[in-house]
Amino acid sequence: MNVNQSAPPVPPFGQPQPVYPGYHQSSYGGQPGSTAPPTHYGAYNGPVPGYQETLAPGVSRAPPSSGAPPATTAQTPRGQAAYGQFGQGDVQNGPSSTVQMQRLSGSQPFGSAPLAPVVSQPTVLQPYGPLPTSSQVTAQLAGMQISGAMAPAPPTLGLGYGPPTSLASASGSFPNSGLYGSYSQGQAPPLSQTQGHPGAQPPQRSALPQASSFTPPASGGPRMPSMSGPLLPGQGFGGPPVSQPNHVSSPPPQVLPPGTQMTGPPGPPPPMHSSQQPGYQLQQNGSFGPGRGPQPNYGSPYPGAPTFGSQPGPPQPLPPKRLDPDAIPSPIQVIEDDRNNRGSEPFVTGVRGQVPPLVTTNFLVKDQGNASPRYIRCTSYNIPCTSDMAKQAQVPLAAVIKPLARLPPEEASPYVVDHGESGPLRCNRCKAYMCPFMQFIEGGRRFQCCFCSCINDVPPQYFQHLDHTGKRVDAYDRPELSLGSYEFLATVDYCKNNKFPSPPAFIFMIDVSYNAIRSGLVRLLCEELKSLLDCLPREGRAEESAIRVGFVTYNKVLHFYNVKSSLAQPQMMVVSDVADMFVPLLDGFLVNVNESRAVITSLLDQIPEMFADTRETETVFAPVIQAGMEALKAAECAGKLFLFHTSLPIAEAPGKLKNRDDRKLINTDKEKTLFQPQTGAYQTLAKECVAQGCCVDLFLFPNQYVDVATLCVVPQLTGGSVYKYACFQVENDQERFLSDLRRDVQKVVGFDAVMRVRTSTGIRAVDFFGAFYMSNTTDVELAGLDGDKTVTVEFKHDDRLNEESGALLQCALLYTSCAGQRRLRIHNLALNCCTQLADLYRNCETDTLINYMAKFAYRGVLNSPVKTVRDALITQCAQILACYRKNCASPSSAGQLILPECMKLLPVYLNCVLKSDVLQPGAEVTTDDRAYVRQLVTSMDVAETNVFFYPRLLPLTKSPIESTTEPPAVRASEERLSDGDIYLLENGLNLFLWVGASVQQGVVQSLFSVSSFSQITSGLSILPVLDNPLSKKVRGLVDSLRAQRSRYMKLIVVKQEDKLEMLFKHFLVEDKSLSGGASYVDFLCHMHKEIRQLLS
Ligand SMILES: [Zn+2]
Repeated sequence: MNVNQSAPPVPPFGQPQPVYPGYHQSSYGGQPGSTAPPTHYGAYNGPVPGYQETLAPGVSRAPPSSGAPPATTAQTPRGQAAYGQFGQGDVQNGPSSTVQMQRLSGSQPFGSAPLAPVVSQPTVLQPYGPLPTSSQVTAQLAGMQISGAMAPAPPTLGLGYGPPTSLASASGSFPNSGLYGSYSQGQAPPLSQTQGHPGAQPPQRSALPQASSFTPPASGGPRMPSMSGPLLPGQGFGGPPVSQPNHVSSPPPQVLPPGTQMTGPPGPPPPMHSSQQPGYQLQQNGSFGPGRGPQPNYGSPYPGAPTFGSQPGPPQPLPPKRLDPDAIPSPIQVIEDDRNNRGSEPFVTGVRGQVPPLVTTNFLVKDQGNASPRYIRCTSYNIPCTSDMAKQAQVPLAAVIKPLARLPPEEASPYVVDHGESGPLRCNRCKAYMCPFMQFIEGGRRFQCCFCSCINDVPPQYFQHLDHTGKRVDAYDRPELSLGSYEFLATVDYCKNNKFPSPPAFIFMIDVSYNAIRSGLVRLLCEELKSLLDCLPREGRAEESAIRVGFVTYNKVLHFYNVKSSLAQPQMMVVSDVADMFVPLLDGFLVNVNESRAVITSLLDQIPEMFADTRETETVFAPVIQAGMEALKAAECAGKLFLFHTSLPIAEAPGKLKNRDDRKLINTDKEKTLFQPQTGAYQTLAKECVAQGCCVDLFLFPNQYVDVATLCVVPQLTGGSVYKYACFQVENDQERFLSDLRRDVQKVVGFDAVMRVRTSTGIRAVDFFGAFYMSNTTDVELAGLDGDKTVTVEFKHDDRLNEESGALLQCALLYTSCAGQRRLRIHNLALNCCTQLADLYRNCETDTLINYMAKFAYRGVLNSPVKTVRDALITQCAQILACYRKNCASPSSAGQLILPECMKLLPVYLNCVLKSDVLQPGAEVTTDDRAYVRQLVTSMDVAETNVFFYPRLLPLTKSPIESTTEPPAVRASEERLSDGDIYLLENGLNLFLWVGASVQQGVVQSLFSVSSFSQITSGLSILPVLDNPLSKKVRGLVDSLRAQRSRYMKLIVVKQEDKLEMLFKHFLVEDKSLSGGASYVDFLCHMHKEIRQLLS
C-alpha cells in the first residue's frame, strides 16, 4: 500500500540510483533493531546528491549551448541566474542576442536624467539596428521616444522621429481622453498638437509638467475624485472636472527637471555614469541613456519581438495628441521577453528566493528543495527584514498557494512517504513537519527546527549519521529531506474520531422544476451521467473508482432514489417536509457504480420522463444541500454534492429567498449589500457541511436573477465550484455545460481537508483568501479542495527577520484522497530577506501581486462602498511606486514616472482590476454576474487572474499559416486591431473571434464557408469544419486555448461594426471602457500624479 503513487521521477532527478540501497538498510539502519518501516518509497529516486552545492554528475542539465554562465553559477540554469542574481554580471554572458538584450534591459542602469515622462522600458528599445518594418519603426520610435530625446537622434529614425511627438502627447493625452472629467474637448487637442509638433519646443518640457499637471495644481488635490466617480460613459472616471479646464491650457508649471537639456536631440549621449550605480541598474529600466549606447546588442533587431511585427502600425507618421501607447510598458513585451529568457531551461528550485518565470511562460520545474511555483507563488521573493520597511513599501507580502495543483506530465507528482505508526516527524513545539531546512545536530541525534528553533530529539528509527557538512547521509534518499513538496501518509491520529475514513461519495442533485425540464437540461444531464459515471476520479492506477454515488431530484420537495444493485428498478422516496430534512433511506442510496449500473441507467432513463409534464416552477435550495450533507453524515464519509439548479428558491422552506436585486444601489453606500447573502442560513448550513467534509459544486441555469451572492455561500465556504449558464438552451450551451461537467466530475479532489501555513520566526500568516471556511485564525478548513483552487495567504511581520537565515513557509494540507486515504501534503518555500528596499522591488512578481490585490479588493466590496475599495487600491499602488521612486531610483526629475522593472506592469494590470465588472460594472453587467465573477476570482490562481484581467488577443492571419505555434499576442486595445485581420480574444472565461470588415474574401471563405463578410453570421459559436489549412489552424487554436483553461470557453464570432462588438470591446482593457474605466494611458498619467503628490 501506500508506497509512491507517483511514477518514478522522470529525467529531472532520476539518475543516480544510489538511493535504493541507501534507503533500504542503512538509512533506517543506523539503528540496529529498527524493524524499520517497509521500504515504502523504494521507488523514489531522490534528487541528485549534492544538489545544493554542485551539480551532480548525472544531472542532465541542458547543455550550456550558449556560452552560458561561468561554472560558478552553473548550478542554476541560465535563466535563474539572470533573475536570481540579477547582476550585471550575467549581462555579458547572455548566450543569444535576444537574451542578452533582455537582460540588458533588465539591468539597464537608470539613465542619468532621462526625461521620460513615462517609464523606462528598456526592453522596448531594441531598435537601432537595421530598420525593420514600418510598424516596427513605429514601435521603436515609441519605445525610444523618451530617450530619443536625449540622444543623438539617429537619422535613420527620421521618419516621424517619435519622441517629441509622443511626449507631447503624453501630456496631451490626458485632456483629450476625456477621462478625467469633461475638461477635454476644446482645449486639449490644440495644446497637444502644438507640443506634438516636431519642430516645436522640446516636447519633453511641456510634456512632463503637463503630464503631471493633470490634477488640480496646487491643493493636494482631491484624491482620485475622478477615478471613482460614477461613471458616465462620456465622463470617464469622471469626477467633477475640478480644475482641469484651466490646467490644460495654462502653461505647464516650470518644473523642468535637470535633465531637460537632454531634450535637445543632438546632444552627446548622456553620461553613462548612473549605469554604474550598483543596486539600481536592475530595476530601473528607465534608462534610455544606456540603452542607446553602442551596445552590441542593439545592433541587431530584436529577433523575437512579435509584438512589433504584428502591430498594425498606424499609418500616420505622427500620431497626434496621445501619449504613444508604444512608449509605455507593454504586457505583451514583458511576457514575450520572459518566454524568450526563461522558457528554455527548467526552473530548478534549489536556490532560496529565486523569482520564478512568469505564469505565461512555459517551463519545467525541478524540485530541489523548494516547492514548485505551480504550488506556491509569492508577491515577493525577498521580504523586508522589518515591519517598518514593509510598511514603507506597502508591497503586500502574500503567497498564492495551490496545494493540489496539477502538474504537466513531465513533472512527477509528490512522493508519498510512510513513516509507519509513528507518523510524520514533526517539531515538538511548533508542529512543523520534517523538511529540507531542518538542521540536524549532535551527530544526527537531534534536530533544530527551522521554524521555531526548538531542539528536538531524533527518534531512534529515524536516526542517521551526518556527513562532514553536517548533512544526513540519507538526505537525498528521503523526499522530506531533499524536496520542496512531498506527502506523508497520515496515521489514525490525523483522522476524524480516530478512525480511518471511508471512501468519499458523490451525490447528484437535480432540479426537475419546469424550467429545468423545458430547457432540456434534465434530459441532457441524465444522458451524460450514464457515461460520465465511468470516469469518477481514481487513485493512481486503481481499476475502479472507490467513490460511491447517489441521486436526488427536487423541486419543492425532494425525491431520493434507492438504486441498490439487487433491485430490478429504482425506487423513489419523496420527502415533502423540507423544513426538517432527513434522509429516508440509508441502504441503497449510496452505491458502487459498477454494481448498480443497471438500476442507475434505468433511473437516469426514467427521470426525464417522470417529470416531463411538470408544472412545478418553485424550488427549494437549502434543504437540498441539507439532505446531501445528512446523507454523507449517515454514511460516515466525506464527499461532494453536484447541484443543478435553475431558479431563485422561493418555495416555503429554510433558506427561502426573495428577489432583492436593485441596480439603483450601484455606486451607493448600499452597493455592498448586493454582494452579501440575504440570509445567514446559508453560512450556518455551510459550517455543518464543512464539519462533515461535504463539498458543494453548484451548476446554475438561471433565466433571471437567482441571487448568486446567496446561493454561492455554501459552495464558497466548502471549497466548491460554481458554474453559471444564463438562459441555458441545449442547442447553444450543451457543449460548454457538458465540457465543464465532465471536467468537474473527473477532477481529483482532496476531501475533508485542513490547511495550515507555518512560517519561520518573524512573520506569520494573518489573512486568507479563497473558497474555504475558518473557525479559528490559523486553520483553513476545506470540505473539498481540487487542483484548480488556490488559497492566498498574507503575511505580516511579528518580529525582525534575518538576512542570513531568510524566511521559510511551510504549507501542510491534511486531506482524504479520492480512495479514502488520509494524507498530508507538504510544500516548503524559502525566501530571502533584505534590509534594502531595492532588493524587495527587484524580486517582486507583479502577476501575483495583482492576484492578491484583486482578491483583497473583491472581498472588500462586501463591507465597503466600491468607490472606497477602488480608491484604496489606487492609493496602495501609488504608495508602492512612490516608495520605490523615493528610495530606490536614482535622482531624476519629478516629471518622470519611474517604475521598478519587476513592477512596470503594475499600473496597467491594476487598472484592469479597477475597471473589472465587480468594481466598475457596465450597464449590461447584472448583479448576479458580479457576484459570480467575484466568487470565481476568489480562488483563481495567478495564471487565471493574469489572463482574466488582461485578456489575450491573438491575430490569426499575420503569422504563416503553417506555423504551429500560437501566434504572438498583441495588446488589448482597439488600436491594435486591423480591419483586414481576424483575432481571437480569450480571458479564461470568454472567447471571441473578431472579424475585421476588410478581411480578404479568401479568408472569409476558408473560415466560414460564405462568400463575403456580410454573410458571416454574427454571434456564431461554432466554426464550420472545413478542410483547408486556415480553418484547421483556427479551430485547432480554439481547441488549444480551451485546453489551457479550467472552464470551457464558448466561442462568439463578432463582426467589426456589429452590435455584438460592444461586448467584445469590453475586453480591450487598454482602452477607456464604456463603464467609465480609464484607458491605460490615462491611468498611467493619473498614477503618476498620485505618486508625485505622495512625493511632494
Ligand atoms: Zn518548531
